[in-house]
Amino acid sequence: MDITITEELNNTLKDNGFKEAEIKELIANAESSGQKLKARDGDISIAKGGADNLTVYAVYSPSELLDVYAHKMNIIGLTGGELNEIDYDDASNWACAKCGEIALERNVDMTYMGVTRPGPGLVCPKCNEFYVSDGVARTLKTAEAILEEKRA
Ligand SMILES: [Zn+2]
Repeated sequence: MDITITEELNNTLKDNGFKEAEIKELIANAESSGQKLKARDGDISIAKGGADNLTVYAVYSPSELLDVYAHKMNIIGLTGGELNEIDYDDASNWACAKCGEIALERNVDMTYMGVTRPGPGLVCPKCNEFYVSDGVARTLKTAEAILEEKRA
């Protein structure tokens, strides 16, 4: 898979401390393992990588890198501990590429600097994998900054 990164996006990556090689490796890992989200109505994928203290996501089409975002909060699991039946539609626009299940919009517990809070996640109910959308990641960044300020 040969993915193009526009100069504009590459500059954004650099500004945010992401390395092009790391992002390409993250995508390569997702492509070989199949562990990623795939849009239900298109060719866009979201791959996830990084470590406990920084989860990095890459959004890409088969030909181009579209976005990269990250959060420091560590997702520890489903809020409430397990997936219970609910009476509203929680199907997201994404499916798990590994098992084919539709990813569900469910709250997950996220922990950072000793504080654990629920937040909206994308969950594969079969693989028990958790993802975060770019919009939520932006909100998390603000929450992380507030917690860091409190600690400082
Ligand atoms: Zn799955």
